[in-house]
Amino acid sequence: MAKSERQDRIKRLLPGKVLWVAIAVISCAVFALLHTLFSGVPADALIAQTGLSKTVEVTTAIANSIPLNFDVPKNFQAKTIKDAPVPGAEKYIALTFDDGPWPETTEKILATLKQEKVKATFYVVGQPLKSFPEIGKKILADGHVIANHTLHHWYKQMSPLVAQREIEDTAKIIKDLLNVETAYFRPPGGVLTNGLVAYAQQQKQSINMWSVDSGDSRPSRPSPEAMLKTILAEATPGGIVLMHDGGGSHDNTAKAVPQIIAQLRAKGYKFVTVPELLELSSAAAETPTAQGSSSTSVGS
Ligand SMILES: [Zn+2]
Repeated sequence: MAKSERQDRIKRLLPGKVLWVAIAVISCAVFALLHTLFSGVPADALIAQTGLSKTVEVTTAIANSIPLNFDVPKNFQAKTIKDAPVPGAEKYIALTFDDGPWPETTEKILATLKQEKVKATFYVVGQPLKSFPEIGKKILADGHVIANHTLHHWYKQMSPLVAQREIEDTAKIIKDLLNVETAYFRPPGGVLTNGLVAYAQQQKQSINMWSVDSGDSRPSRPSPEAMLKTILAEATPGGIVLMHDGGGSHDNTAKAVPQIIAQLRAKGYKFVTVPELLELSSAAAETPTAQGSSSTSVGS
């Protein structure tokens, strides 16, 4: 009887024991999960695991109040510049990328810029931005400046109405897709006389040429080493460096960017966006200690 009583007791206890074991196992699992979440795995890896990276990045960008209206300091409105020297000891330079967004090239460049904590200015063309809006959103989410480089990238002479459409249609695409308003403009091919710059000036935009041409849009497509050599030879404080992330694949440019950043840094340069460069230049011009003019104008 004693044995049978024991068996009954075991039977009565068994469901309870299973419950306790289950609670213990679940507790361990929850503890392990929490431990992993809060101590072991880096946030980026977690985001990657959950597949939420894009949403999180865009949300983070907006939460961090990345400026969504790139306006122009008064003394640079309607001005065409190729550089903007900032009086003082610091050496600033602006990296710029034209004709994107473009698959692979833009993404590779963005990865390098993120790793090096460098912000740049992207002169986007309306057509590719419509085709690759996600890459455009990534440019913005990473904290870079979006600027207008027209809808079709035409060099030809244009009527005032066509010139207006080239700039305003692109502005609308930028606004609709990225919720950005930008008053920074670069004429395709640097052509100053085909009607586009006249319209941009009417709108008090900043017309941005460059002081350093990497040469990466030439049909010969210079090697990363050749690009680096050109840029190092031509770089000056307050300079604006022209490169391309779109209008075709620019693998050499993507390959050159890490070295360009490293070598310019070694020469003491700090990287800024074009709006930052103009703000620094304006601020320096307004201080009593500033020496002479702070901007170099091309045209008017
Ligand atoms: Zn271009």
